[in-house]
Amino acid sequence: MTDQPSTDITGADLPSGDGAPSANTPAANGSPGTAPEDTPDDAGRTDDRDRVRLKALGREELETFVEDLGQPSYRGRQLYNWMYAKGVTDFAEMSSLPQSFRDELSDVATATSFEVVTQSQSADGTVKALFELPSGEQAEMVLIPDIDERGEAQRLTVCVSSQVGCAMGCTFCATGMLGFRENIPAGAIYDQVWHMNEVAQERFGQPVTNVVYMGMGEPLLNYDGVLKSIDLLTDEDTLNLSIHRITVSTVGLARRIRDLADDGFRSHLAVSLHAPDNETRSDIMPINEAEKTSLPALKEALQYYHDETGRPVTYEYCLFHGVNDSVADAKRLATVTRWIPSKVNIIMYNPVDGLNYERTPEDKLDAFVQALVEEGVTVTVRRSRGQDIDAACGQLANKG
Ligand code: SF4
Repeated sequence: MTDQPSTDITGADLPSGDGAPSANTPAANGSPGTAPEDTPDDAGRTDDRDRVRLKALGREELETFVEDLGQPSYRGRQLYNWMYAKGVTDFAEMSSLPQSFRDELSDVATATSFEVVTQSQSADGTVKALFELPSGEQAEMVLIPDIDERGEAQRLTVCVSSQVGCAMGCTFCATGMLGFRENIPAGAIYDQVWHMNEVAQERFGQPVTNVVYMGMGEPLLNYDGVLKSIDLLTDEDTLNLSIHRITVSTVGLARRIRDLADDGFRSHLAVSLHAPDNETRSDIMPINEAEKTSLPALKEALQYYHDETGRPVTYEYCLFHGVNDSVADAKRLATVTRWIPSKVNIIMYNPVDGLNYERTPEDKLDAFVQALVEEGVTVTVRRSRGQDIDAACGQLANKG
């Protein structure tokens, strides 16, 4: 079995700092298509009130922060526990901190990462929430329940956003149409899971079991924020999630995949492949046009990743009718799967307004899957959930 969610949601995955093309993204901050690699998000100050956003800081950074305010470092650990283990955002409620320190924190910092703006539930139980960051930018998170025949949730997966918008400009993706706006800080990624964990317990009577970085944005372009958020999620003092139940999905940024291998990444890696050859991939994913992020570069990076970690990879492959869904495409895809131990998740496309892609008919899907099976490929077909609330794969576009 796999650590993958039983459903897919996004469209999450493409890159840039690796020399990615700017794509056709209207980008925020006035620089169309600019690759926002490692945009400073740490210890950032809010746009409006010039207060330090503590949800961008991890445990050690909080210790440094309180020391800079003249407090002993253990106050940083207390602050960490209030924010991440207890979910408290109001300093006035942090009763183990001295009153004078609580007052000072209220003046200079904020522990709030976002406000939930709207929340909706699909007929299949999928919950989507739109949230607003202190900057005023908005993004989405989704809770995907796997319900068995007895009506019980076997798995509760949260799909988190790692960026507002995305610079990758995948031609089939609603998020890509937004352009890149900003990186989401580690604590705000953590809080998406925290929020959906409360929703899960309230509606399904169980906590969240899995997390996938497949919402808005390219996670490896918010590299530090994403790794820091995984540290937060797996801390035994906080949500204590299993590191093996976390999946980071990337468009396939070669250099960052090598970095993951070097940095001891232990969660599951998924790569949004979506095409088995360079030409087709470049047509639908502009990032592939650059040599450093093309398929040959991806192959080398994945082989390095596997050599260093011993870990397999999952390829996400969304079928687009007449684009990448022929039996010949399946045979080429089978060749790719032999680069390193892997499996393939086939995703059925969810039409997006304004984009000219069609869903592959069932008979073509069957032929595609059959061809993969005959080649010995481990393949799963994932039927997206939450389509009626635009929470399905590739549909996240802040429509609320
Ligand atoms: S444009 Fe969409 S599919 Fe492409 S990387 Fe960004 S979020 Fe993922």
